[in-house]
Parts: sequence; C-alpha cells; structure tokens
Amino acid sequence: MTNQVRLQLEDETLLRDQMFIGGEWRSATRVFDVIDPATSEAIIAVADGGASDAQSAVEAASAAWPAWRSLTGKQRSAALKQWHSLLVKHAGDLARIITAEMGKPLREARGEVGSGSDYVEWYAEEAKRAYGEVIPSYDAGIRLVVIEQPVGVAVAITPWNFPFATIARKVAPAMAAGCPVVVKPAEDTPLSALAMVELADRAGIPPGVFNVVTARDPVAVGYELTSNPLVRKVSFTGSTEVGRLLMRQSSDTIKKVSLELGGNAPFIVFDDADLDAAVQGTMISKYRNGGQTCICANRIFVQDTIVAEFAERLSAAASSLTVGVGTAADTDIGPLINAEALAKVTRLVDDAVAGGAKTMIGGRPHDLGGTFYEPTVVTGVGLDMAIANEEIFGPVATLFTFSTEEEAIALANATPYGLAAYLYTRDNGKVWRVGEALDYGMVGVNTGVFMTEVAPFGGIKQSGIGREGGRQGLREYMESKYLAIGL
Ligand code: ADP
Repeated sequence: MTNQVRLQLEDETLLRDQMFIGGEWRSATRVFDVIDPATSEAIIAVADGGASDAQSAVEAASAAWPAWRSLTGKQRSAALKQWHSLLVKHAGDLARIITAEMGKPLREARGEVGSGSDYVEWYAEEAKRAYGEVIPSYDAGIRLVVIEQPVGVAVAITPWNFPFATIARKVAPAMAAGCPVVVKPAEDTPLSALAMVELADRAGIPPGVFNVVTARDPVAVGYELTSNPLVRKVSFTGSTEVGRLLMRQSSDTIKKVSLELGGNAPFIVFDDADLDAAVQGTMISKYRNGGQTCICANRIFVQDTIVAEFAERLSAAASSLTVGVGTAADTDIGPLINAEALAKVTRLVDDAVAGGAKTMIGGRPHDLGGTFYEPTVVTGVGLDMAIANEEIFGPVATLFTFSTEEEAIALANATPYGLAAYLYTRDNGKVWRVGEALDYGMVGVNTGVFMTEVAPFGGIKQSGIGREGGRQGLREYMESKYLAIGL
C-alpha cells in the first residue's frame, strides 16, 4: 500500500518529500523518515537538507525580494487570497497530513487548518493597510512623514505541535508586508509545510518568495539561517532554550527577532466562578491538542473553599475523554509526539506522586502502548515540584490551592514565563484587578480559548518577544522609515 493511499488524500501530489527552494523542488543527498506517532510507522522519507541548502534558500529569497516588495499591497493581497482559497479547498487533505505526522484528532486538525487559513485571509486584507504617519512639523519649511517598509528576507523556524498554523502565522504577515520567507519546519512534522508551499506555488506566489528547507538535525541549518547577513528577520516558535540560542546567533548581525516561547500558564478559579464553565474552560485549555500547546493550563489554582468540588467535576469530565488514533472519529486525545515526550510526562507525574501528590484519574502511560498517555488529574501538587515549573506538554491537569486574591496573583506570577493566563470569576472588579496584575501577554477571562487571527498573540518575560495576529503582527516584518522633507 502506498503512503498516499494510506493517508487517503484526495490530491496525492500534496504529499511532497523534497525541499522547495527558489521555486523548484530539490532533493538532498540524504533523507529522513517522518513518523506517524499513532503507529510509529514511517509515512515517507523527506530531504535531509544542510547549511548549503539553507544558504541557497536565503539567496533565492534575497533575489526575489526587490520584485516582491515593489508590488502594491493590493497585488500581494491578491496573491495571498489565491493561496488562501487553495488552503480552504484542500482543507481535508491538509488536516489528514497534520494528523498523520503529528497525531492530533482529525477534528482538531481541521480546526487548525481553519484557524491557520484565517491568518492568511487576515494578512491578505492587512497587506493593503500598512499605513504610515504624517507628523505635524516643528518647522514651517519641513514636512515629516513615516512610511512602513518590509524588513527584508525573513526566516521562520516552527514547532511540531501546530505544524500548519504556526507557519501560516509567520508566512502570511511576512509575505503581506513584502518579505520573502525561508521556513524551517520541525523535523517531526515537515509534511504540512511542504503541502503549504506546494499550494502557494499553485497560487502563483513567485519563485523565491516562499522557500522550505527540511532537515533532521536543525543545528547547522538553524545556524546558517540566523547568521547569514542577508536574513533581516527571524521569527521562531518553540522552546525558550532554543529561542535563547537563536536570539544569540542573530545578535552578531543585529536581526529583528520575534520569539514565541514556552509558557507555564496559570489557570485561576475563584470561588465565585461559574464552576461548570470553569471546568469546561479547563478541559479546553488543558486537554486540547493532548495538552501539547504553549498556552495549555500548566498550573491550575483553585480557591481552597471549592477545590474538592472542582477536582471531582474536572476528574469526571476528563475521564470521559477517549484516547486513540487521530483518524478515529471518537478520539479526543491522540498520542504524544514521540518517545521523549512520553518519557518527560511520565517523569513529571511520577516525581509529583513520589513527592506526595495524588492522582485522581490516570497517572500512567495508556494501555494502547506507543506514546499514548492517560488523561490525568493530579491534586496536592507542591509549588517546588518539577511538574509546577516545567511545561508538562501532556494531558495532565495539576491542581494547587490558594486562599486570597493576593496569593493567587503572587503564585501565578512566580515564574520566569509570561505567555498566557486564565481566570474565572463573576466579580467584575476582580476581573480588572487580577487581569491587570497578571504578568502575561494574554489573559483569558471566563474563557479557555482566545486564539484568533484578529488579536495579538505573544508573551512577555522569558515567553518571548513580539506578537502574531492583529494589526501588530504585520509590523513584526516592517521597519518604520522617517522622511524629513524640506520644501
Ligand atoms: P520543542 O520542544 O517544541 O520540540 P524546539 O525548540 O526544540 O521545541 O523546536 C522548535 C523548532 O526549533 C523546531 O523546528 C526545531 O527543529 C528547531 N530547533 C531546535 N534546535 C535548533 C537549533 N539549534 N537551531 C535551529 N533550530 C532549532
């Protein structure tokens, strides 16, 4: 059986195994297998690119820049709209590719294609709105104008947990702004990126404007992409550790950087909250994507008066989740991405239990074997435990207690991270007080979901720099130029 048949793609040519550089598909001297985490079987072997491929891609992007930046916003908008319509048309196949390489349930993969495509549509619209500014002059003989111009060749280095959406959120604003892009997708999930660039090519995006370099080991390719002087912008989503390295490597040539890094999201439930809504919000925030998102509730702080009730209700809800392969219709939670991820989740839970925490449900790898893990709820977790300080990245909810508003804020902020936070309360004053006091880039109030292309997504502290989405997202790929014009 061919892989295409196994994936059951309607358009088999969306499954690509080469890199896309300067408008051409290119192989490498070596290949590496892309593994389906649900079966541990290889889907296909893709090109294992190196530093010289990254350099070719940067040079192709640089060569494409003058023509791409010279187009009007309206012309770039038209090209992006064309790409968007093909992404929508092939949404079913794109979702099947995501599920095959990453493992999430098909329903969630469809959601990811939808939300990622929404970013492409939004930036197709924003391409026409890169407004500058006219400043009232200090001198009757001088006029002051600010124009916004594309920064230049942009690099996007992306993770495996949202292999489609994280690329859309970078490539769409970059291209809208007038920047060509080189994408280096995660080694676990290169197939979504390759399908996306195939569709961009069909949409008529000019050669060199969108390049994809795949590699099993990211170090050499990453070094080239962050040190090549032709690259003017690096946008990265992934771990704080790698973000720190890429920022350091980008510093010699003073590149503009955007970093969307790790989080340690607090989820605060006050005793005046709508408890059912809070449980439902926790379910979405914690268990979506199998708990493998950077905005997943990592520390759930529940007021001491309601913690027992909350723990019961959350455990009841979480125990109804179905674990299985992403292609099965009733699956809520797929496999973890790989063996290292399973080892990490297992270590964190075992360590917490050894330290005195209690598992209400779950607490071990799932009987399905492979990298499946049971939906888990842990209570009595200590703040000094590893599970409270590392990103869990698995379907494990950890419950802590607090007694006062001040304590909740202090506990929530006691981390070097600052990406997403959540709070549930029906007290309007508390909404504002706590919402303003949380040191986070995003705060969900009485909601477990806030991902949208129309708003700026991003973190503060060691969770990152810059924003994706909203009008702010376009500016990450532009520089302001000030013109003083004597009359
Ligand atoms: P995760 O923990 O989610 O796998 P990583 O930060 O390791 O996050 O990976 C995110 C992205 O960063 C992936 O595309 C990966 O290949 C890339 N990456 C990891 N290490 C490096 C490196 N040294 N240089 C460049 N890219 C890297």
